[in-house]
This record gives sequence, C-alpha cells and structure tokens, in this order.
Amino acid sequence: NYSLAQLRQADAAHHLHPFTDHKDLRAAGSRIVSRADGPFVYDMDGNEILDGMAGLWCVNVGYGRDELAEAAFEQMRELPYYNSFFRCSTPTPVLLAKKLAEIAPDGLNQVFYGSSGSEANDTALRLVRHYWALEGRPEKNRVISRDWAYHGSTIAGTSLGGMAAMHHQLHGAVPNIVHVMPPYAYELAEAGESDEQFGLRAARALEEAILEAGPDTVAAFIGEPVMGAGGVKIPPASYWPEIQRICRKYDVLLMLDEVITGYGRTGAWFAAQSMGIEPDTITTAKALTSGYQPLSALLVGDRIATALVEKGGEFFHGYTYSGHPVACAVALKNLEIIEREGLIERVRDETGPYLGQALREKLGDHDLVGEVRGFGLLAAVEIVKDKKTKTRFDPVGRAAGLVRDHAIANGLMMRAVNDTMILSPPLIWTKETIDMACERIAKALDLARRDLQG
Ligand code: PLP
Repeated sequence: NYSLAQLRQADAAHHLHPFTDHKDLRAAGSRIVSRADGPFVYDMDGNEILDGMAGLWCVNVGYGRDELAEAAFEQMRELPYYNSFFRCSTPTPVLLAKKLAEIAPDGLNQVFYGSSGSEANDTALRLVRHYWALEGRPEKNRVISRDWAYHGSTIAGTSLGGMAAMHHQLHGAVPNIVHVMPPYAYELAEAGESDEQFGLRAARALEEAILEAGPDTVAAFIGEPVMGAGGVKIPPASYWPEIQRICRKYDVLLMLDEVITGYGRTGAWFAAQSMGIEPDTITTAKALTSGYQPLSALLVGDRIATALVEKGGEFFHGYTYSGHPVACAVALKNLEIIEREGLIERVRDETGPYLGQALREKLGDHDLVGEVRGFGLLAAVEIVKDKKTKTRFDPVGRAAGLVRDHAIANGLMMRAVNDTMILSPPLIWTKETIDMACERIAKALDLARRDLQG
C-alpha cells in the first residue's frame, strides 16, 4: 500500500502520460483516481467527481458493474488467452462478431478486432487500400479526411487525423492522405449562410478534393459522424447525405470512425443509424466494452469483405490480441447490459434531447457562452469573450481551461478543447444528473468570468 504522496512522487519520476505537458504535471502533481461507482469517480484527495466524460468517452454503462468483472473473471479462468491466427478461434470473439453483425447497419457483416481505436483505424486504412489493389486499381489509394479530425495516435491515426499540433510532431506522415474543411458552422459559416447551405458547402469540399486529385486516385473518405476530440462539432443535417452522394458518384469508399459515437451515445447503436449514413467500414472501440477492457472492432461492409475473402488470399495483418477472449466476453456482457436497461432508448427519447435543452436553458445566456450544441449524449459549450462577434479570449484555451478547472473543483469532470467545453457522460445519467451537471458548469462559468475579469 502506497500513500498518495508516494504515488504522486513515483508518477512524476517514472510515468510518461499521454497528451500531457510533463513540466505542468510535475508542478501540479497528478490527480490519482482510485475508485469509481455509478456516475462518480473518487480521487485519493477524497473528492467525489461526477464524470461528465465517461472516462474518455467510453464508460457508457457507468462504473461499478460487477457483471462485467464476473464475465472477465469467468473467461480468464476458462481460457485467458488464445489467438485467432492460423485458422484458430475462441468462442467469445465469434459470438461477439455475430452480435455486432446483428446490431450494425445493414451490409456490415464482418468484424476485424484490435485493442484500440487507433489500431482499428490503422487496419481500416490498410484494408481500404488493399481492397482497391485487389480490384486491380492500386492507384486508387488516396484517403481524404478533415481538419480537426481525431483518428488516434499511431502514425496512421495521426496522419488520418487533422490535428495541427499532432501533425507538427509527426515528423513523417503516411503518404497520400489529404484533409478538407470540417463541418464546423460556428466558426466557418459565412454571414447569412444557413446551416443547410453551410453543410452542403462543407461537404462539397470533399468533391473539390476528389476532382483535384482525380477520382481514380481516391480510395476513401474518413470521418467521425460527430467530431469528438476536435470539439464535438455537430454537422448540419445536410452534410452527411451530401457526403454520401459524392462518395457514390466517384466510387469513393465511405469510412466512418464511430470510436466515440458507437454503442448508444447518439441514441442508436451507431450514429450511422441516427443519421442515415451507409458506410463501407465503421471503426469502433471504447464503449464496446464500456472501457472495462481494451477492445476495438472494425466493422467491414460486404463489398470489401467479399473481395477479401474471394480474391485476397492471406491478409498479412493482425495483432496478438485480435479477438482477445476476455475482452470479447466483457463486450458481450456490456452490450447485453445496454440492451437490457434500455440505455439507447433512454438517450434517444429522454436524456439526449434533455441534455441539449438543459444546457441551452441554463447556460445559454451566460456572458461567456457563445453557443451550446448537443447530439445525443455529446455536447459542447463554446467559451467566448464576446458573444456577438464570437471573439475568443487570448491566449487560446486559457478561458476554457479555467472553466474546466473550476468545474472539476466543483465536482464535475469536463474536458476543454481549445475554447470549447465538452461533455460526453455515461448513458446512465438521468435528467437529475444532467441538472446537477448544469449547476456545476454554471458555477464554474461564474468563477472563470471572475478570474478573467480580475
Ligand atoms: N477515433 C476517434 C474518433 C477517437 O475519439 C479516438 C480516441 O479518442 C480514437 C479513434 C483512438 O482510439 P484509441 O485511443 O483507443 O486508440
């Protein structure tokens, strides 16, 4: 048993954290979260914090689910590990693949497993390029993505992503990936442009990029249905139908990254179903196990799967933990809980609409709030200096950083992306939990305004 001080000291001495300025971390000391239950996490300083981020957009069924621990325990005792290479399998990845084919949008019937969303996108990139090679068109291998996209942290994930700061540190991207504008109306719509017009214009940036590159060189377009880590950028309703039309017109495959939106967050199993999108691949991870085990599933459409099976020979790709039996056992139980408790219907009919409405009603008039937007249990609050002109505070990120710090100090875990505040709570939140979160955000906004004026 180690004391909090000893853990902090060892953390600073030995542990390099993801996405962290280590000088800052060492100066402040890390928050050590040691326990969680339902919608709350508990740190070793004795704080109870409502988890507005579901961990990292993943703990959809909330914390403290003994059933998931038991599923892992039983599977570990029965068979902790065996691989799915060279014509072997174990039962749970098979049963999970069958279940995923049942709940996936029509036409996505095959699954390739990994342990993370980054690995799944890496697989997806290889697979779509391989598909065109199998079709005798290896020159069709460019992939179009979007600025602000987040598709993971491997070299392929970072190259697919559109985060400027990450590209800066990439020192050699995967070639043949280009980026177009995201459907971010709050900053990119022109004066007088309706949401619908902006959505069409943003989608047509894809068409322009395809025509510029030459349709014969473009393999696929990849996008998150709602951009998550880029700031919960919710596209206008006109955007995805137009993207779909353009992809069909130029025979460009449509890859959806549903690592955040998958498994109920938007009020359907997948956002493709909420939004009527018909993709060729869907990348999923995170809430597949509600974060209780690392697992990703790339859902593969019939067109690609058929070519792979019939023309592919061996696909030289895979991970030691592809189809890990314990992770798959936990995923099966997690999907059962989501279904049994009606969590998707709750998001669709009750908490999803209520989250957007409550945030708008309770925070929309605050001086610091430029816009509130929500889709299912994903929401964003834009922090601005001037609501009318949408001017931000200087430097970028300071204001939202203050709101985040005050929110956490007041018992609500939120995330700040530049000057956008993010919420992505567990699907077990009720209207009462949403009200509690709104009160804590309101207080954090008042405190941040005081700091910014002082
Ligand atoms: N894709 C999206 C949309 C994500 O939000 C993330 C992680 O946040 C990833 C991919 C990468 O997933 P992982 O962190 O499991 O590699």
